[in-house]
Amino acid sequence: MSTIGSQLIETPERRALRQAVGDLGRRYGSAYYLAKARAGEPADELWADAGKAGYLGVNLPAEYGGGGGGITDLAIVLEELGTAGCPLLLLIVSPAICGTVIARYGTEEQKRRWLPGLADGSRKMAFGITEPDAGSNTHRISTVARRDGEDWLLTGRKVFVSGIDHSDAVLFVARTEDARTGRLKPCLFVVPRDTPGFEYRAIPMELVAPEKQFQVFLDDVRLPAEALVGDENAGLLQLFAGLNPERVLTAAFSLGLARQALGKAVEYAKTRTVWSTPIGAHQGLAHPLAQCAVEIELARLMTQKAGLLYDAGEDVAAGEAANMAKYAAGEAAARTVDQAVQTLGGNGLTQEYGLGALLAATRVGRVAPVSREMVLNYVAQHTLGLPKSY
Ligand SMILES: Cc1cc2nc3c(=O)[nH]c(=O)nc-3n(C[C@H](O)[C@H](O)[C@H](O)COP(=O)(O)OP(=O)(O)OC[C@H]3O[C@@H](n4cnc5c(N)ncnc54)[C@H](O)[C@@H]3O)c2cc1C
Repeated sequence: MSTIGSQLIETPERRALRQAVGDLGRRYGSAYYLAKARAGEPADELWADAGKAGYLGVNLPAEYGGGGGGITDLAIVLEELGTAGCPLLLLIVSPAICGTVIARYGTEEQKRRWLPGLADGSRKMAFGITEPDAGSNTHRISTVARRDGEDWLLTGRKVFVSGIDHSDAVLFVARTEDARTGRLKPCLFVVPRDTPGFEYRAIPMELVAPEKQFQVFLDDVRLPAEALVGDENAGLLQLFAGLNPERVLTAAFSLGLARQALGKAVEYAKTRTVWSTPIGAHQGLAHPLAQCAVEIELARLMTQKAGLLYDAGEDVAAGEAANMAKYAAGEAAARTVDQAVQTLGGNGLTQEYGLGALLAATRVGRVAPVSREMVLNYVAQHTLGLPKSY
């Protein structure tokens, strides 16, 4: 992958970060990751090592135990771990969404309570916004927070919330009672996993990953005033402080899958010989793999642009770029994994090569956290100024 290897595109510090994270990821590799996933266990050892090395909190403020870097750095961590065979989905949620929102909008007490643990990996926080009756239409979410004296009472349902069983708490998006209808005025609450009235149930998924997805039931969950993160009247701004990093990190997740698959496919195509030359000499295989390399490289550049804009505080430009990066990386990953499976023939579906499992994983980048159709709606309306159909 040439372009990003250039100092003109990426600083020496970030290139060194890529190298170091890649070295750690390769010490574990896809065999470790897939064994954990198939056993239904968290990738604790890798998570702890990455936390100790400072990689999990690389984007969080240094005064709260983080690395003082940005989303660009955290995206590098996830991309390189994924490339090495270990795409840790919870990185998208715990340090990228929850860590960013708390760092930007939390009180001093909330920052001291959560950020050091999120940064060193000793604590994890999941994120719940999706609801069964709202889906892509986030304005329709109906989880309600109402005041009861100094406390809040939270009631509603969520779906597809990743990694609750490995997390200490969940950052939930709700709406206040007086804003039940109309445009969403979201407010965010940290809910510790053992809070009475908070129940969750694993959804049987076809995904091979250490993180499960959960249905959530919130029934008059009583929370102290300090569970609210940010201002209840701040509107969408503070939510998007977390959602744009989520899109950049999901792009990095897809890029990791794509590069992992391309690496395995190229390696195989160089050595597997069934006629007189290795199968990689046949243009029917070489050209699609070359196209994948081009698409991955383009998506990486867009992901980098989105991260840099976000880290520079250009939230509006970062929003457009993050959507485009997430789309491009999701498409590149889906095409690359498909082509990689084809390249390996029957071995594309054996557990030994670990590519079949990636087929379902690449769908994540097309569906979550915002589907590719919703990204195209966004670009059609905001970038091109076309009318809205829904
Ligand atoms: C593995 C995984 C992990 C996840 N983790 C989390 C998590 O940790 N926390 C969390 O809150 N959520 C999580 N999600 C949920 C994810 O964000 C949602 O699945 C996603 O937002 C889409 O919502 P939906 O599934 O309800 O699909 P729907 O909204 O029902 O959409 C179904 C289809 O209709 C299309 N569609 C809908 N509206 C339009 C339109 N206006 N124009 C064109 N097409 C349209 C969509 O693009 C999609 O193809 C996760 C999902 C997955 C699969």
